[in-house]
Amino acid sequence: MKPRLGLGLIGTGFMGRAHAIGFATAARVFDLPFSVDLVAVADVDAADAERARQLFGFRRATTDWRSLVHATDIDVIDITTPNHLHHDMAVAAIEAGKHVYCEKPLACNAADTLAMTHAAETAGVATQVGFNYLKNPLFDLARSLIADGELGDILSYRGVHVEDYMADPDQPMTWRNEPASGGGVAGDLGSHAFATARFLLGPVESLHGRCRTLIPTRPVAGGEPDCAAVLTEDHASAHVSFENGVIGTLEVNWAATGRKMQHDFEVYGTRGSLCFSQERLNELKLYRAGDGATRGFATVLAGPDHPPYDAFCIAPGHQLGFNDLKTIEVRDFLDAVAGRPARGPDFREGHEVQRLVDALLQSSRENRTVCLR
Ligand code: NAD
Repeated sequence: MKPRLGLGLIGTGFMGRAHAIGFATAARVFDLPFSVDLVAVADVDAADAERARQLFGFRRATTDWRSLVHATDIDVIDITTPNHLHHDMAVAAIEAGKHVYCEKPLACNAADTLAMTHAAETAGVATQVGFNYLKNPLFDLARSLIADGELGDILSYRGVHVEDYMADPDQPMTWRNEPASGGGVAGDLGSHAFATARFLLGPVESLHGRCRTLIPTRPVAGGEPDCAAVLTEDHASAHVSFENGVIGTLEVNWAATGRKMQHDFEVYGTRGSLCFSQERLNELKLYRAGDGATRGFATVLAGPDHPPYDAFCIAPGHQLGFNDLKTIEVRDFLDAVAGRPARGPDFREGHEVQRLVDALLQSSRENRTVCLR
């Protein structure tokens, strides 16, 4: 009989649902160290909380997230609320002795992410940040190919995270457009792009960034006035220097008409290259320099040779999806809670990523290169 672990989920939107699916699937796919008990779900909207209770299978629903933090039958707090709420929720949970799984970006600025990291490290609780793209088995392969020298000396890097969910100027403001809610594309998608860049190539030494608001006004749903100025950026790009000497570029944009999920990277070395696009997340393009007329990119298709794909499916090429990456993230978090070797990314890594997001915004504001060392 596995030990029981009580779960409290805060937030029932896009990510609340993805996390609930992740916990449900992880229990079927992996030999988890715990039997996860879905104790309670909280949402500021009572109807959403109750709907999620029924749909996801939690026993209690509430509008009061603090009641989850203080519940004695809850061991783990899972935070899927807007960014500006992460800090207070996580710190309260840590102070109550809970392990914390939190969506990205970890918070709205590096001062808050550092406080969260210190709180967690002092309390000795396990933490996890929702940089789910890192959980793709092909990312592990890409990182090993780079680290093992299969591409030769790495010369340059291109990272992008581009979507179009903010491309419609008639779309009303959401919390993602509010500076006070930690809005803006630099934190929303930039955090993912920086997390991937760090995963593949390590720490960033300096960057020079530029941010721009592409859609200057948006309707305010049910508001007075009915339209307001957008104070957050829609597009951001940066020239980046890594500590290992590689230079590269990153671009993030949530108003790129037609783009659905371009979380992509390209790594170029003296003996080979790698290209990846999240829109085809089961494929890694690998080029090995050599001779012959057939020289070109080969497609490595995800399969059981790339763990933990094999836990989902014994057959290659049958394909994992976005929610499967969340499922792997849940497994990794529960392993960390159990004291097994932690795969991260933990709050310390979430803080390092936030330092880069802050640097991008600062660089654009001050029109200068920002050093991270
Ligand atoms: P959302 O707006 O769909 O959901 C947020 C939920 O939080 C809503 O149900 C809302 O009612 C609830 N909420 C707000 N205030 C609350 C409070 N005080 N107490 C309890 N519940 C409250 O947003 P989302 O898209 O799910 O984003 C949530 C978080 O997930 C953000 O930090 C975002 O950056 C992150 N996110 C991550 C990914 C990823 O790929 N990892 C994708 C999307 C969003």
